[in-house]
Amino acid sequence: MSISEPTLSVHRTNPVRSFLALGILFLVSAFTAKADVNGDGKTVICFVGHQTSHGFMKHEYSAGNHLIEEWLKAKYPDAKIEGRHAIPWPDNEEEFFKDADGVVFFCTGGGRHPVNGHVQEFDRIMRKGVGLACLHYGVEVPIGPSAKGMLAWMGGYFETNWSVNPHWVAEFKTFQDHPVANGVKPFESDDEWYFHMRFQEGMKGVTPVLSAVAPKETMKRKDGPHSGNPTVRKAVEAGEPQHVAWTYQRGEDYRNGRGFGFTGLHYHANWQEDSFRKTVLNGVAWTLGLEIPKGGIETEKPTMEFLEANALKYGGDQGSKKKKPAAAQKKTKP
Ligand SMILES: [Zn+2]
Repeated sequence: MSISEPTLSVHRTNPVRSFLALGILFLVSAFTAKADVNGDGKTVICFVGHQTSHGFMKHEYSAGNHLIEEWLKAKYPDAKIEGRHAIPWPDNEEEFFKDADGVVFFCTGGGRHPVNGHVQEFDRIMRKGVGLACLHYGVEVPIGPSAKGMLAWMGGYFETNWSVNPHWVAEFKTFQDHPVANGVKPFESDDEWYFHMRFQEGMKGVTPVLSAVAPKETMKRKDGPHSGNPTVRKAVEAGEPQHVAWTYQRGEDYRNGRGFGFTGLHYHANWQEDSFRKTVLNGVAWTLGLEIPKGGIETEKPTMEFLEANALKYGGDQGSKKKKPAAAQKKTKP
């Protein structure tokens, strides 16, 4: 008889251990969101947004949404990704969202956020475990039902008189051990990085993905709904890291659905930064329950010509021929 045999037989026959093992298995499966949330053999991403809002190569919502769709389709051929686009809210929401695995809001927010006035219906969709990713202005909703919804679905949002929207160069140096940070390398990026989000109490369920210390210049504007308030000033003064991208793990009441918030993307040109692009793609894919490769989602760096053509196709001209777009001259250091 070898030494290990009695131990093995104890494992096999001990009902308490078996029960525990089963319990652990159940827990693991319960907290691991599955790709293809509704099990229909395809992965449907519902993009809800606006066409654009701030001039050529800025807030290129529709163009950006199509980029995300194309990049993910190319990277996950087996997931049978299907993109669906509504500007802003779908006319037939039941049909539009019926087999959704994830929703992306890359759109004008605040009082014009598409979810305003649809919170109850959208909450029913979120309770099925459908993922949600909100990008740039899409993270801002008014205090009230939309904000309550965002906290439940995505763990945080831009709250007026609490969060701020300065333009600054954020330096991202360290990252948490989370699939959405897979393959993301230190980088810096000039963007309108909103920060000081209103998060879930005690950051419950929230994992910061991109954090940086905001420089003092971010506070040079006077107090106002988007520009400053005593609390954020104190936080910046103290040098507290500000979270500008995060993930959210919902509970069982929302079938363990996942959320992802990303506050950059004012400039369409920032898609050129490899780690910036990777963070967004990892984040959206994670909300869909897709497996994120160890090195993150690798895509070829798009050229400026490609991005401008893409913005023109989906966002329209927006005066692009009259003046050289500011974003084209912008540099995002590696
Ligand atoms: Zn912006």
